[in-house]
Order: sequence, then structure tokens, then C-alpha cells
Amino acid sequence: MHIFEFIRPKDSAAAIAAAAQSKTAQQGADVRFMGGGTTLIDLMKLNVETPDRVLDINRLPLDKIEATPDGGLKIGATVRNSDLANHPKVQRDYLVLSQAILNGASAQIRNMATVGGNLLQRTRCMYFRDTAMPCNKREPGSGCPAITGSNRTLAILGASEHCIATNPSDMCVAMAVLEATIHIQGSKGSRAIPISDFHLLPGSTPNRETVLEPGDLITHVTLPRPIAGSKQVYLKLRDRASYEFALVSAAVVLTIASGNITRARIALGGVGTKPWRSPEAEAALTSKVANDATFRQGAEAALRGAKPQSENGFKIELAKRCLAYALHTAAVS
Ligand SMILES: Cc1cc2nc3c(=O)[nH]c(=O)nc-3n(C[C@H](O)[C@H](O)[C@H](O)COP(=O)(O)OP(=O)(O)OC[C@H]3O[C@@H](n4cnc5c(N)ncnc54)[C@H](O)[C@@H]3O)c2cc1C
Ligand code: SF4
Repeated sequence: MHIFEFIRPKDSAAAIAAAAQSKTAQQGADVRFMGGGTTLIDLMKLNVETPDRVLDINRLPLDKIEATPDGGLKIGATVRNSDLANHPKVQRDYLVLSQAILNGASAQIRNMATVGGNLLQRTRCMYFRDTAMPCNKREPGSGCPAITGSNRTLAILGASEHCIATNPSDMCVAMAVLEATIHIQGSKGSRAIPISDFHLLPGSTPNRETVLEPGDLITHVTLPRPIAGSKQVYLKLRDRASYEFALVSAAVVLTIASGNITRARIALGGVGTKPWRSPEAEAALTSKVANDATFRQGAEAALRGAKPQSENGFKIELAKRCLAYALHTAAVS
């Protein structure tokens, strides 16, 4: 393993100042923050990540879950995934988020993993994790062997000719339908980014996955006030029942009045190069009768732009059925 310096900054300002010296914020960055380390240390052991300095942010005061004055929720960046999923207010008002997190990884990993780290977890594409192989995301310009190789688990939405890797997070799919905002403190001040703008499509720069700049520290995430009476479901389909990433998943927040859908927020996981919010499905569902025919129409709309690779065409129908069933389950809940 690459030799690195391990630092515990005394406060956020010191952490940001140290990280701002990095040449890049993402792939290849020589200074990295560390939350739970369940992505970072994993990739350092594989020599995929080789930072010179690792800044442990666990002692910074970013570990609280608090109500906001407008009735929403403020979630610190170092809050553990388990604590978030099991928080009474999350289980009551943001059930889709609790379900998504509890469907991910294992209890041990969720106990370590942080909210900030989960937002930035890396793809599970096997070529990305193998330094003997070329990979545009790991080594820009080296090529993408997945396009002609093993791509069963990879993306059908948002891919480019340079990268077809999926974003693997369950939590982010739920945060997409809850319209979360990511709060960042950097060397030039603070800013707030809607989650839909936080992750980038791969385009010709798949090595750049988010809008983060060198020194940017995610401090917290906010969720808006819960939608009264909404029905929420996260459904994840995978090759085995636990300790496995999504082949496809669907996050659904529905409001139904007198049998009609008055509001729909839809996102898919396991199929997109970023957590995949679907305005197309939301438009197809809104103001329609809440029945199985409508749910199927919403699912058709969500997958209309899907482009399969050689091994993952099955994901299109699987994702449609997953979303239609998640909508059905939410409607009858
Ligand atoms: C075996 C296994 C199975 C898994 N299964 C699933 C699954 O089914 N579903 C799923 O969604 N996930 C799964 N995961 C991924 C897991 O959820 C992530 O590894 C975890 O959420 C990352 O959080 P962390 O705090 O450990 O991140 P870290 O490893 O500490 O950090 C990850 C990245 O985020 C950066 N970072 C961390 N905190 C901040 C911050 N506050 N500001 C700026 N940058 C920051 C780090 O520099 C690093 O680049 C699995 C992981 C493993 C190892
Ligand atoms: S799909 Fe992306 S991560 Fe996978 S090999 Fe191609 S460039 Fe690398």
C-alpha cells in the first residue's frame, strides 16, 4: 500500500485549508478526507486511490441530526448510516431514506459509513477497481474496457462512450426523491447544491464525478419539510438478499387524493451513471388515477431513454417492473 500521512485536523477550517492544497478534488487527489473509510481505505488497499495525506474528519462537530426551523432535517456529514436510518424522525417522516440505507451493505459497514462518504462512494465497476486494466475514470484517456467487456451490472441511463459505470449508492437515490440539499464549506466560502446537481454525468470526463473542488468539505445535508400524507417506498432488486449492490432499485414518494396522484417523486438506482431522478415518470404519473395501468405508464416513461450494453439489456424490463411494483406497494400502504 502507498505510504501516506494520517492527520486529525483540529477544526473544519484546518481540514479545508489542508485539503485545498490538493491538485484535484476527486480521482487522483493527493489529500483526502476520511469518514468511515469503507470506500477510501478499500480503494487504497487496491492502489486505486493513493493519497499522500488522509484527513480524518471524525472529530469535527458534524455528527448531529437536528430539526430545522422550517420543519425539515439537518444531517451532519459524519452521521453514521445506521444512526440516520434508525432515527425516529427519519423512520416516521422520511421512510424511503431509512429503507434505502437499511437495504445497503451490511450492519457493520452501515455502522462505520458516514453520510458524506456515502454521497461520494465510487463505482463498483470491476475494471475501475483493477489497476492492471485501463479505465477512463481511474486513468483518463486509457479507455473503457467495460463497453466491450463485462457490463452486466453497469448503466443503461446517462452513459457516454467514455464510461458506463453506475453510481452504486442506495442512500442517494432516496435523497434524490426527498430533494435533499448538500451543504459544502470550501476555501472560498459555503454553498448549497441540490442533490440533482451534485453528481455529474460522465461525458468525456468520467474521472470528475461531482461538483466538488479541492478543499471542499461536505458539512451537512438538509431535507425539506416532509410532505404530509405522502406514501414512501424503496425497493431494491439484487443478485442476493444482503451485502449486495442494486441491479435496479426504485425510490418513490407519492401523494394520492381521492384515488388520483397529486404529487410524485421518482428516482432509480443501479441503472444510472448518477442517482437517477426521473422527471419523465413524475410527469406521466401526476394527475392520473392511482392504478397499475398508470404505474406501468410511469415506468415506461422512466426507461424511455435507456440504452443497453451487450450484457445488461435485461435491466430495462427489470427496472420497469421494479418501479411499477414500488408504486403499487406505496399506493396500497
Ligand atoms: C462490502 C461493501 C458492500 C457495500 N454495499 C453497499 C450497498 O449495497 N449499497 C450502498 O449504497 N453502498 C454500499 N457500500 C458502500 C458504502 O455505503 C460506502 O462505502 C460508504 O457509504 C462510504 O462512507 P464512508 O464514510 O466509509 O466513506 P469514506 O471511505 O470515508 O469516504 C468516501 C469518499 O468520500 C470522501 N469524503 C468522506 N467524507 C467527506 C466529507 N464530509 N466531505 C468531502 N469528502 C468526503 C472521501 O475523501 C472519499 O473520497 C458497500 C461497501 C462495502 C465495502
Ligand atoms: S465503465 Fe467507467 S469505471 Fe468502468 S472501465 Fe469504463 S471508464 Fe472505467
